Amino acid sequence: MADKRDYYEVLGVSRDASPDEIKKAYRKAAIQFHPDKNPGDKNAEEKFKEAAEAYDVLSNPDKKARYDQFGHAGMGGAGGAGGYGGFGGEYGGFTMEDIFSRFGDIFGGGRFGGFGSGSSGGYGGKSVNRGSDLRVKVKLSLTEIVKGTTKKLKIKKDISCDQCGGSGAKNANSYTTCSTCGGSGHVTQVVNTFFGRTQTTTTCPTCGGSGKVITDPCPKCHGNGTVKGEEVVEINIPAGVGEGMQLSVSGKGNAAKHGGINGDLLVVIEEEPHPELKREGNDLIYNLQLNVADAVLGNSVEIPTVDGKARIKIEPGTVAGRVLRLRGKGIPDLNGYGAGDLLVVVDIYIPAHVSPAEKEALEKLRTSDNFKPKVSGGKARNLFERMRNYFIS
Ligand SMILES: [Zn+2]
Ligand SMILES: [Zn+2]
Repeated sequence: MADKRDYYEVLGVSRDASPDEIKKAYRKAAIQFHPDKNPGDKNAEEKFKEAAEAYDVLSNPDKKARYDQFGHAGMGGAGGAGGYGGFGGEYGGFTMEDIFSRFGDIFGGGRFGGFGSGSSGGYGGKSVNRGSDLRVKVKLSLTEIVKGTTKKLKIKKDISCDQCGGSGAKNANSYTTCSTCGGSGHVTQVVNTFFGRTQTTTTCPTCGGSGKVITDPCPKCHGNGTVKGEEVVEINIPAGVGEGMQLSVSGKGNAAKHGGINGDLLVVIEEEPHPELKREGNDLIYNLQLNVADAVLGNSVEIPTVDGKARIKIEPGTVAGRVLRLRGKGIPDLNGYGAGDLLVVVDIYIPAHVSPAEKEALEKLRTSDNFKPKVSGGKARNLFERMRNYFIS
């Protein structure tokens, strides 16, 4: 999977560029690399697609916010080898048809209104419908979040009708010529574009550019071109995601009516609470209840981690409120910048009742000189102060 260029870099704008600046930058790039201007130039075509992909994200406040926060990792994409950073594989993947259907308006009408060789056919003329986006929730355990995971989701969605191939017509003869456009598929109007006032041809709103309307609808989909169905979608979830984060999988949403491009599948992450570990950003916190004797004498004790149990060493004389930091045992950073820590916050377990033998032992300790508190004033810190200091720092 090739490294993707930063979207801001692709469009040559700063990260705080206004929507208008982004739009202008995209227009400029789209004109420069437009296939009509660069016939047969594969490099220009790639640049043209790259700019469209960047503009698709940066012109959409929702996608832009995700990209600003998570980079390419936040942009979703099924397939690919999975694992860490296996995201973003198929995002983009725009066809020329997608670009003209999504962003055609930026050029001032159906095809490149007045720009280039309007008669060259190719991508123009026919507008492409886009299916709606779908949103699903995925519940993940902390372990899955730490390691990253792949989920197979059965998605109920509109799928293309297999009987009519998505056309919505019973057969090839089930059409009549569109009366709005007389069969041409487009209507001519005068519009203002960034090239100035120009006569431009847009897609016929009645027939959607096909030049014909259905007289005899497909009996299975009743002319919609789509039917209710299911698809199993495999989603690679990178390590380090968090509650409420949204990943988008391009093209896995609802199919469009009468053929066209699919909507996107938006995957919203839900975090399953762990019974013992609490997440704070990329750190994990465990409240350890320590035996009084272990606190005084030291020991090694078992603690939970996302990988199962681990043993940690307790130094003799460990006080309540001490925070033991296990570096890198927290949640990996989504963008690959290391990992959080596991913080073990020590509390001393005090039993509510004691046996006569225990009482006797404690009475001896009570009178022992060594057990009389020696710290005083500012040095004596209670658990809450320590906790507060930890969270403030
Ligand atoms: Zn059908
Ligand atoms: Zn028409």
